Amino acid sequence: MDFVKAAVLPWLAEPIERLRAAGAADRLPHSLLILGAPGLGAAELAAWAGAFALCEARPAARPCGECAACALLRADAHPDWHVVRLEEDAQQIKVGQVRELIESLTQKSYRGGYKVGLIEGAEVLNVNGANAFLKTLEEPTARTLLMLTAARSHRLPPTVASRCLKLALRPPEREAALAWLRSQSGEPDGWEAPLALAGGAPLRAIELRRAGVAELDADMRRDVAALAAGTIDLTLLAERWVRADPAPRVAWLENWVTTRILAGVGGAADAKTAESVRLPGGARGLKITSMYALLDAVRDFRRLATTGVNPQLALEALLLRFRSPPP
Ligand SMILES: [Zn+2]
Repeated sequence: MDFVKAAVLPWLAEPIERLRAAGAADRLPHSLLILGAPGLGAAELAAWAGAFALCEARPAARPCGECAACALLRADAHPDWHVVRLEEDAQQIKVGQVRELIESLTQKSYRGGYKVGLIEGAEVLNVNGANAFLKTLEEPTARTLLMLTAARSHRLPPTVASRCLKLALRPPEREAALAWLRSQSGEPDGWEAPLALAGGAPLRAIELRRAGVAELDADMRRDVAALAAGTIDLTLLAERWVRADPAPRVAWLENWVTTRILAGVGGAADAKTAESVRLPGGARGLKITSMYALLDAVRDFRRLATTGVNPQLALEALLLRFRSPPP
């Protein structure tokens, strides 16, 4: 795993400094809840923090990258590093996976140092799963670090969330993010659209650009026009989006509605951009209040999407709103 990347992401400097100070005072937290949208570096920060705890160089202000522990981590072979994530085709992290992790953390450390557990994407943990490690949070064993990463809209039980040190990651300022994207990629242009679609999360912007934002944009314009004209089957469209990855598509919709609203209230948005896709047929001549309702629907969907709801059904319901006239 890559545990050095977090240290070069400028917007993670503050949480890293916090962990570094805690480590220097030998007061690393027992449990850490890292919150942030995809592409803000929650996974990278967790990797850094875990490696920081496991690194055997002393004193260390960061994972040294050279000791035996760091070498094992780099090879994904450290015996005291335990990760749980959603299994393929599963909707939730299973309680059995969590129990296994907790069991590993109660064992003696293989290398005589820290034991680190990570639950990736903890928003898809069900109540039983979350309760399974409540006891571990309440009575932590020494030299154990349990980390959870989750979206900010997570529905973890308060009993769990309140027992963790929370690190909430925020997107960097737009200009700072653009400057970082330009400098690290050597590409001076074309970052505005992917960054906007990524909701300001720079690593996600890189992924989106790699996946082809121009094609996505063209697809979306075609889909929304077809949706408005009623010439496309909702179920098939939702199916296609779910298969392809709904997140950037829903972000595109949110962007599009937001641009319409800003243009409508005479804001800073470029009206020409806003007009380049016609309003959905039923929504043509829509009042600004209805656009706000659409925006709410899109945001509700994004919240729902992190709760293990059936994505196909939720997406169909959302797309229906883009087709039908407002009540
Ligand atoms: Zn090391």
